[in-house]
Amino acid sequence: MSKRAVIILKPRAGRRARAGAPWIFSNEIAAGGESLAPGSVVNVRGDDGQVLGSGFFNPKSLIVARLFARTPDEAATKAFFTERLTHALMLRERFYSRPYYRLVHAEGDGLPGLIIDRFDDVFVLQITIAGMELALGELIAALRDLLDPATIILRNDTPARALEGLPSYVRAELGSAGRIVVEENGARYFADLGSGQKTGWYYDQRDNRAFAAALAHRRTVLDAYSYSGGFGILAAQAGAKEVICLDSSESALALAEQSAAANRLSVRAVKADVFEELSRLAARKETFDIVVADPPPFVKSKKDLEPGAKAYRKLARLAADVTARGGVLLLASCSHNIPLERFAGECAAGISRAGRRASLIRTSGAGPDHPVHPMLPESAYLKALVYALD
Ligand code: SAH
Repeated sequence: MSKRAVIILKPRAGRRARAGAPWIFSNEIAAGGESLAPGSVVNVRGDDGQVLGSGFFNPKSLIVARLFARTPDEAATKAFFTERLTHALMLRERFYSRPYYRLVHAEGDGLPGLIIDRFDDVFVLQITIAGMELALGELIAALRDLLDPATIILRNDTPARALEGLPSYVRAELGSAGRIVVEENGARYFADLGSGQKTGWYYDQRDNRAFAAALAHRRTVLDAYSYSGGFGILAAQAGAKEVICLDSSESALALAEQSAAANRLSVRAVKADVFEELSRLAARKETFDIVVADPPPFVKSKKDLEPGAKAYRKLARLAADVTARGGVLLLASCSHNIPLERFAGECAAGISRAGRRASLIRTSGAGPDHPVHPMLPESAYLKALVYALD
């Protein structure tokens, strides 16, 4: 018999978990877990006694348990991680010929609370739950055996960790952080893992960058919120006539300029606030054939929905103002907390306010290295809408 702590779910939660839902909320527990420490591994049962699986438990979190296996008494051992990482790796290797991708996308890869971005032999990890943090040693052992990393960076400074009572830190577990090369869509970029944002590179926009670049030949391109030039550099490589990378971060623009130089491409970096710069460009009647606006999340939490939605609408209006006749406008949101329909509604309203007629030619999200757990559709956070303007 197992000595493992057991939590028992209320009937409805039990039915949801049985149907495959991986999250248990704090108000869904009928019994158990009272004295357990954050990160404990538990067996989860329905009120009928049926075993539903093994999960990470954290009494401090609203999401009190996250199932990581459909069988009881599973532990987050090296063997467990080896199996899950192997599976995640095989999926990526079917899509990408080069070892640059998000290797692990949390629940989408059966590894709750874990993100791993891979840059060849450099691995950047982000852990967001206590159970995964406690299993770090086993995880690293599995990763080292499977992929022989030169560098492992722990980018554990996301605000989400506070919800699990975890401290914020960045640490090199192996090797050291610094500037690295990213290969994507046949282009070579630079990223900075020490000071960059998130894990240093946004792989989620890979397919959308390719889509925009395919339209860029002999066109003018404005890459607003360019970060290190994900869209802009690829557009330049695809033969764009002129590319402006617009961002408020000096260090991000420096990376974009370095990437452009290394690829013998010409990209103009402009350091400014996007809202202000778009207004200035519009006042000067400057337009671009392709405009990309990929801002930071405007809806950081549910309570920010209304002001955030308004900001997306305003951005759509200003971006449409600088999109040339017959041009293409790509508007993106990486906010978990705004649903696609609402975001699309705000974009449509903004474009219309600009006095432009638009057709939506593509609705997309992140690439296949960001798999979504089918019972957590809200974790498909990235939305990218492409409009053809009149
Ligand atoms: N499009 C990028 C990712 C954008 S991330 C890519 O393909 O990789 C969001 C970027 O917005 C960051 O680089 C950040 O520096 C920038 N940013 C945030 N607020 C800004 C503002 N008010 N004006 C200009 N840039 C801003």
